[in-house]
Amino acid sequence: MNDFILIVEDEPKLAKLLTNYLLQAGFEAQCLENGLNVLPLVHERMPALILLDLMLPGRNGVDICKDIRAFSTVPIIMVTARVEEIDRLLGLELGADDYICKPFSPREVVARVKAVLRRTAGQEPLSTATPLLQLDEGRLLATIRGCQLELTVVEFKLLEFLSANPGRIFGRNQLMDHIYPDQRIVSDRTIDSHIKNLRKKIAGVSPDTDIIHSVYGVGYKYDVALADTKPSA
Ligand code: CA
Repeated sequence: MNDFILIVEDEPKLAKLLTNYLLQAGFEAQCLENGLNVLPLVHERMPALILLDLMLPGRNGVDICKDIRAFSTVPIIMVTARVEEIDRLLGLELGADDYICKPFSPREVVARVKAVLRRTAGQEPLSTATPLLQLDEGRLLATIRGCQLELTVVEFKLLEFLSANPGRIFGRNQLMDHIYPDQRIVSDRTIDSHIKNLRKKIAGVSPDTDIIHSVYGVGYKYDVALADTKPSA
């Protein structure tokens, strides 16, 4: 049976567009526009994934997400109208699996849906005999597909932290708090340059392995699943 995707979206045009794209991609899809109808349907049909708009009539996306998390770990992608909203949502620690900002391309949404499904199914899309990433904390040693990376302590800590939370987006401030727990005053651009170096080093040993992703206006995440969902065009 096809994976059932529940779309919660009150803009009819957008809802129809998303439904059509997901159907074309081989999913089963249904759309609800009123927030009050979500929980009963989730209980009844147990979707494989929920695309959840934030602003809805009846009940808002934040409350719905909390409701669902009280009894289910079903993957949830939150859809927001403003990129600044994502920061606030991250702070609420709702347990959503990904965030998408409007306007988006339906194609991107389908790619994200697939990525989240793969990730939450615990499947390793880039499966090879050699593990993708191995970290030896004691020796600050990192290998990508068996190739050793020459990392600084900060780069190692960033990679370790991000990869321990696959798919989760971290703001620069959160990363800085982790890397510099002594509250040393550093510019948040410092994180950008460490990430840049880290990505360069990963690309240096394994050019096809794109695992550190920047999320525009928000921060960074580690995501193995996204590595092979890029459009080939
Ligand atoms: Ca809305």
